[in-house]
Amino acid sequence: MIVILEPDLADRRAVVDAVMAAAHRFPGIEARPYEFVGAEHTLAEVHLIGSTSHVPSDVFEGLPGVRKVVRVSARYRLIGRHDAAQGPVGFEVNGVRFDETSVHVIAGLCAVDTRAHVDATFAALGRAGVVTARMGAYKPRTSPYDFQGLGAACLPWVFELAGTHGIRLVAMEVLDARHIDEIQQALEASGHPTAVMLQVGTRNAQNFELLKQIGRRREFPVLFKRGMGITLEESLNACEYVASEGNSRILFCLRGVKTHLGEPHRNLVDFAHVPVVRRQTRLPVCVDPSHSVGLRAASPDGIPDIVHALGQGVVAGACAVLVDFHPRPEVALCDGAQALRLEELPRLLAYVARVGAAYREAARLFAAPALSLSATA
Ligand code: PEP
Ligand code: MN
Repeated sequence: MIVILEPDLADRRAVVDAVMAAAHRFPGIEARPYEFVGAEHTLAEVHLIGSTSHVPSDVFEGLPGVRKVVRVSARYRLIGRHDAAQGPVGFEVNGVRFDETSVHVIAGLCAVDTRAHVDATFAALGRAGVVTARMGAYKPRTSPYDFQGLGAACLPWVFELAGTHGIRLVAMEVLDARHIDEIQQALEASGHPTAVMLQVGTRNAQNFELLKQIGRRREFPVLFKRGMGITLEESLNACEYVASEGNSRILFCLRGVKTHLGEPHRNLVDFAHVPVVRRQTRLPVCVDPSHSVGLRAASPDGIPDIVHALGQGVVAGACAVLVDFHPRPEVALCDGAQALRLEELPRLLAYVARVGAAYREAARLFAAPALSLSATA
C-alpha cells in the first residue's frame, strides 16, 4: 500500500509524520517514507509494508495533504508508477538531466582500447556538443580468451580526457563491486573531471548481490540494462533491487532480447517496450540500438539498421540512446562490427533531434481529445 502526498507540500514533514503515526496503529505494518526530487516537483510517499489487506485506505485518505492511497500489485514498488497522473521525475547528474523533455545521445567506445581512440572519440563528441559518453573499461565477454577491457589502468586517462573535452558523464559497465571502488578512487585522484554512470550489463541484470552493492552507492547514477533472456517483469523486479537499497537515479535501458528470430540482427529489437516501461515505472528510458542490431549494415535508403532501430526508440518516447562509435571500427577490440564511424555523428544527432520533435508532436496530438466523426445528413 502506498500513501501518495500532494506534490510540493510546504509542511511535507508534518504530513509524513501524521501518515507514519496512523500506520503505526496497525501491528505488523512497517512504514517507510520516500522523497522523489524532480526538476519541477518534489513528490513524497509513505510505503506500507506487510500484510496491508486489512488496513483501510480511508484512515490515510482523510488526512490533510494526502493525495491518494494505492494498493500496489506490482512488486517493484519504488520504481513503479502508481499514479498515472504523476509527472516525470527523472534525475540529474553533473548538470545533465534525464527526463522526458529531451533526448541524450550517450556515444562512444564499446571498449576502451587506446588513448588515441578515446581522445579522438571525446573530441568528436565535444565538437558536436555532446556531453554524455560511453566507455567500457570492464568487459563481460562470451569467451575468457577475448579482450576483457583495460580495467583500472585506463581510468586515469579516460577521466582526464573526458574533462579535457567537456564530457560531463561517462557510462561505464561494472561487473563487480571492486570496479566501483576503482572508479571512485580514479575520479578522486583526478579531481572529478567528469562523472560516471554505473552500467549494469544485460548479463548481470539478475546478479542480485551486485545490484544491491550498486544500490548502496547513491553517489553514482545507474544505467540498468534489461536482461536479454528474461521477461520485462523480471527485469523490473531486478531493477527494484537497486532502488530498494536507496539509489533511485536509474535510467532503464532496452537493448534487445536473445532469440534467433531476430537474425540477421544480433538480438530482437524490443523498443516497442519503451511506452510499456514508461507506463509501468517512473524511470526515464534509454534504448541501445547498437547491441540490439549488432551490425553496421544499411538499408537501400542509406540509413544504417542501427539508426532505424534508434528512431523506433526515440519516436516511442525514449529520453536517451546509447550508441557504439569508434574512430576505426575495423581495429576495435570489441564489437567493431556494430560501431558507427565518428563521421556519422553529426547526422545521427540531426536525425535524433528530428525524431524527438516528431515524438513530442505526436504526444501533443494524442493529449488532445479525439475528434468524433459525426454523421452528415
Ligand atoms: C555494452 O553496452 O557494452 C554491453 C556489453 O551491452 P549489453 O550488456 O547490453 O550486452
Ligand atoms: Mn559491446
